[in-house]
Parts: sequence; structure tokens; C-alpha cells
Amino acid sequence: MISRRHLISLLAAGAVRAAEQSNETSTEFRITLLGTGTPRPDLVRFGPSILIEAGAHSLLLDCGRGAMQRLFTRGVMHKPEGVLFTHLHSDHVTGFPDLWLTGWLQGRTEPLRVWGPRGTVSMIRNLERAYAFDVRIRQKDERLPASGARIEAHDIAEGEIAGFKGMKITAFAVDHGLVKPAFGYRVDFAGHSAVFSGDTKPSENLVKHAQGVDLLVHEVLSPELLRRTAAIPASAIPAVIAHHTTPEDAGRLFARVRPRLAVFSHIVPSSVTESDVLPEVKKFYDGRTVLGADGMTIRIGAEVEVTYP
Ligand SMILES: [Zn+2]
Ligand SMILES: [Zn+2]
Repeated sequence: MISRRHLISLLAAGAVRAAEQSNETSTEFRITLLGTGTPRPDLVRFGPSILIEAGAHSLLLDCGRGAMQRLFTRGVMHKPEGVLFTHLHSDHVTGFPDLWLTGWLQGRTEPLRVWGPRGTVSMIRNLERAYAFDVRIRQKDERLPASGARIEAHDIAEGEIAGFKGMKITAFAVDHGLVKPAFGYRVDFAGHSAVFSGDTKPSENLVKHAQGVDLLVHEVLSPELLRRTAAIPASAIPAVIAHHTTPEDAGRLFARVRPRLAVFSHIVPSSVTESDVLPEVKKFYDGRTVLGADGMTIRIGAEVEVTYP
């Protein structure tokens, strides 16, 4: 005879399994901007990082400062299974040790997967050395599973990355000045697509890979505002302008790509407002364009829906 308590626990386990199965077959494709900023330690626009959720699985694109706080407020600290690095400028990677180690403390049991340009494996191996004390002590003391602290890192070349949980991920070279290679990424899932520019000046290769995409997340830099706000040392301004994309150039590029939605992220300087960039884009492109904000979510399906934080 089955006890009432046992019956309840069997029913609960069945419900969990059913929920997991429906997640596994879910075709929900959702992009959340965790950080839309730059190296500047701004409290409104955190360091660059984007959460890509495809069905039951999720990855981060870059892991800038504060990515973990943004994941925490969504209750998904241990959820990202991997990180795609566009390039190794510090603003794109400084949040990684936090994601790796705090995510482990918060329940990640599987190795974290990492892909990025040449130099990524070396950076990861050196981080493992830097944090070896913490990893050793917590395994021993807190009995955390060793597997959750492991990182499977890969230096990648341009092209399709081995498929990941139903996502087709393609890295393509962009033009970020001396930072070579620097990648943009295209993610295809359940018949839909999103392209992420990473840091780049207008890139022909991006135009090629992004044709007719559902969502294009692109960086932007306003030269006038950058000079006016003195957000970086004057000596660095010419190089920084040369390695990024102005609002006018973005407008010209969007007109050739024609995404269903274009969203700006990695916004330089972080004080840029819609009225600083959207009228400049409009001169060349009449399609749907929005200025990203930390916490903005874009659902890609029959419609491309934006939810503001
Ligand atoms: Zn950057
Ligand atoms: Zn950069």
C-alpha cells in the first residue's frame, strides 16, 4: 500500500520531470541585455554581457563587470552553461571569475564551457592558477563538486562552433583595430536568428553574416558625446573612435542588413540617450531600432518583442 506522503512525492517528481521535458522541447528564444556599458564603472550601464536563452539552455555573450548581479536579480546565477567571448578586452571579461566561482557556490555542478578568440585558453588557465586556493579549499571544506569548478575552454577560429544544445553558433571576424581576432557571433535557434556585433567598426563581414536576421545587437559610439563628456583620457579618444561604430555608420549598415529589430548595446559613452543616436540612424535607415538598457529582454519568435526593465 502506498502512503499518502509517498504518493505526493511521486506526483511532485513527475511534475518536475514533465516541466523539464517541456523546457527541453521549448522553442522560446530570449535575449536579455545584462550590461550595455563599457569599461567605465557606471551604475546604470554595467559591463558588456548578454544572456542568450534558447529553450532550456543558456549562454552568456561576454561577461563584463556586474553580469553576476544581473543574473542574481533574475534568480539564474548558476544557469549559464557557457560563455562566448567576442574578444579579450578587459571590460568583456572582468565579470568572468565571479560567474565561474560564485555560480559554482550557487549550485552549478557541470563544467562551464568557454569559447573565444586565440588567447582565451591561456587566460582561463591563468585564472585557474590565480583562484586555485579558493577552488581547493571549497572542495575540501564545503564539499562542492569538483566538476562545477571545471572550465572547458576553447580557442576558436571563424566558422561554426560545434552545435550546442540545439543552438547553431557561428563566429565571424569583425574589425576592432589592433584587437585581432575579434569576433561577432550569430546564433540560430528554432528557425530564428540573432547576431551580436561585439566591438567593431562597420564590418562588411558582419553585413554578410547578418542578412535578414531577426535581431541585430550592435555596438555604438557617439564621437561628439565622447569628446564632450571626457569619459576617457584625451590621448585615447582618436583610437577609440576609430575602433567603434558611429550612429550614422550604424544606420548605413542596418539599411544593408535589414534586421527585424536593431538594438544598440555597448554604448559609448554610457550617458548616450535615444535622442543622441536614433535621429542619426534615421537619416539612413527607417527600420525598427532601439537603444538598449540593462535588463531589456527581447523575445524572438513570430514577433520580435521588446520588454523594457
Ligand atoms: Zn568593449
Ligand atoms: Zn573592445
